[in-house]
This record gives sequence, C-alpha cells and structure tokens, in this order.
Amino acid sequence: MGIIVQKFGGTSVSTLESRQKVVQKIISAKDEGKSVVVVVSAMGRKGDPYSTDNLIGLVENCKDNISDRDMDLLLSCGEIISGVILTGLLQRQGYKAICLTGAQAGIITDNYHGCARIIKVNPELIHNYLNQDYIVVVAGYQGITEDGEITTLGRGGSDTTAAALGVALNAEIVEIYTDVNGLKAADPRIVEDAKTLDKVTYNEVCQLAYEGARVIHPRAVEIAMQGSIPLRIRSTFTNEPGTLVVSKLYPYEGKQIRGDRLVTGIAQITNISQIKINSPEISKMETKKEILTTIANNSISIDFINIFPDQIVFTVPDFLADEVEKIISSKGHKVSVLKNCAKVAAVGAGMTGVPGVMARIVKALAEEGIDVLQSADSYTTIWCLVDNKDMKRAVKALLKEFDLSEA
Ligand code: ADP
Ligand code: MG
Repeated sequence: MGIIVQKFGGTSVSTLESRQKVVQKIISAKDEGKSVVVVVSAMGRKGDPYSTDNLIGLVENCKDNISDRDMDLLLSCGEIISGVILTGLLQRQGYKAICLTGAQAGIITDNYHGCARIIKVNPELIHNYLNQDYIVVVAGYQGITEDGEITTLGRGGSDTTAAALGVALNAEIVEIYTDVNGLKAADPRIVEDAKTLDKVTYNEVCQLAYEGARVIHPRAVEIAMQGSIPLRIRSTFTNEPGTLVVSKLYPYEGKQIRGDRLVTGIAQITNISQIKINSPEISKMETKKEILTTIANNSISIDFINIFPDQIVFTVPDFLADEVEKIISSKGHKVSVLKNCAKVAAVGAGMTGVPGVMARIVKALAEEGIDVLQSADSYTTIWCLVDNKDMKRAVKALLKEFDLSEA
C-alpha cells in the first residue's frame, strides 16, 4: 500500500473549523487506501495561544536565563499540542490514529539547538503503526540528538520534517498543505493576481524559497529532490490540485516536465543594506582579503558580493549595517551605506543559456522608472537590488514582462 505524507501548516490547524478541513483531507487519502503520515505545525500565528511565537513570548522576561536546550523543550510543545488534538479528531471520526513526537518518529538531528539539521530518520515505529492501519500524526519541527536531547529545526522546520519522512518512508508523494492554492509566480501578499504554477522543478522552487518565497522551506525541497520524492504544495481550504514539484527529467504520471519557461517566478527579500567600500588601498588583493576576513570573523554573512579593482560592494540585512560600517571604518576604509533596499529575484530553469533575459528585466524596470542599484545572475536566477519603496512595482513589472499574471 502506498504511503503519503501530508503536512499541515500553522493556519491549517489554527481553528476548529480549519482542523475539520484538515481531517477531511486526511480521511479522504486514507479512504483511497493510502497509508497516511501527517506532519503538523504549531497552531496559528503570533497572538494564538499555542503558536511558536506565543511560546517564545512566555519566557520573554527570562529569555537570557533559558538555555538553548531548554528553549527547544519549550518550543517543541506547540507541535505536540496540535498533533494530539488532530489525533483526537481523527479518532472521533472512527479512524485509528496516534500522535508521535519527532523523537518517537525517529527524527535524529545534530545538536545545534534552535536550528538543528536532520541527520537520519529511523522509521521503524511509524512502519509498525502503519502496518496496524493507524494514521500516524507526527509533531513537525523537532527531533532528538543521538544523546537524547530534544531539538528544533528552525522556522519552516515542519516542511523539512515532512520531506525527510517522505524520503525515509519512500512515500509516493509529500503534500504541503497551506493557506494558498499552491506556489504562485509571486508572493500573493505583494501581487494579488500572480499565476498559480501547476508544475515547477525542485531547483526553481528551491531558488524561489531561498530568495524569500516562504511558502516552503528550501531545505525541505533539497531533501525531497535528493530522495526523488515528488512534492505538492496545495491548499487545505480548496480542492484545487496546487503545484507539483518534480525533477525536470523525472517522469511523473507519464509526463515530462517542460523546462522551457524563461522565468517561473519572482521573489523578494526586503530591508537590506548595500555597503560600498572605496579606498585607495582596495586595489591591493591583500586589503580585499583582510576586509572580507574581518567581516567573516565577526560572523557576519554577506550577500550579493561584487569585487571591482577599486571597490567592494555587498549587502547585509539592515539590522547589521551599522555594525558592518563600524568594523570597516575602524580599519581606516571609506564606506558608504544605503539602507532600505530590496533584492528582487527572477527565477527560471529555462533562462539558462538564453540571451537577453537581463535586458528584458532592465527594460521592464526602466519603463517603471525604477533604478537598479546592483545586479547579478546565475544559471537560473537574476537578482536586482532596488529601493524598498520600488519593490512592489518591480515585482509587478517583472510579472507583466514574463506573462505571469492571471489572464
Ligand atoms: P504554513 O503555516 O502553511 O507553513 P507559511 O506562512 O509558511 O504557511 O507559507 C504560506 C504563505 O507563503 C502564504 O500565505 C503566502 O503569503 C506566502 N508566500 C510567499 N511567496 C509565495 C509564493 N510565491 N507562492 C505562494 N505563497 C507565497
Ligand atoms: Mg511554512
């Protein structure tokens, strides 16, 4: 019997009404004869009593006295609570169901509390329950170290749990249920009429996720890709098929995925600062090396790096800009900081080797009167840095240029 992994995000489990929808999705897969493993997030968002943000708020006044280890114990409770409630609702419908913590489900991680990585999955207990016809509900976002300490996986971690279980169980598919109809060509909070994409490659969705599309965690996509397990992003609240994520060459339902779309989607990251370092000594490679090493030694990760003979340009999040400025000027270099920028990324597997994509992007932005402050490109992504205030218009202009709005 085929195994299906269904992951339900925070908004899907936040109210009794939404949990009823979740129960329907699970039951309909079970009634189709699937072995069903369900991964749940904590209930709701900031303000909701058992959401991750609220659990963090509970220790606000003593957070400096709580170890990372103990914090993970607290944070792991949110998913356990929603898992138990969902299990109860399934049993009430007459289905055998059991809730497992990440640890019980065999999710083994490294020991980086708060952002642990899954290093292996021991799926025996899940298999045991599936063989006895149980629906297995697993608390997402958490695992256990080989020393028996509870860990959490960082924001979006339930997606990663679902993908890792999908691979370990050799599932037919991992379904990521959320509050939108699938992966859209742009963030629906920025643009209302962005197309819902019916099929995308792992690579594209991974790039979009890294560039700010938070609908799925990029690590989850990587894990599914490595295990060749198809993913589907879809809504808990409708019956639409959503977005199927597969490898370009991986035949699914007998069809090949076309890779000829130039641009598949647009994503953005806001509130970043552009840092420019100019000084006569910069022309020496030794000086360049010293500057970049000093920044790295301060554990600051920089992005969008362009190195010219007489200049170094890069970006950092706004909240780090003052610190970076101080570090560099203390070494006697001239530095200028431009805050409140946004990085807009156009992603598409079909742009590889096709000339003129950057030209179309620059043209579309120029027609809107938007200045490009910096740009870069790779095989499948083109990035433009713009002012925050131009970001929305930039995303819209690119959607229009590449025909990615709903007809
Ligand atoms: P969940 O709690 O289900 O994990 P998330 O908030 O993590 O939900 O992800 C869903 C949200 O991702 C959507 O509500 C939407 O606002 C946002 N989002 C950002 N970019 C995109 C995109 N390109 N397509 C779809 N949703 C997106
Ligand atoms: Mg999410």
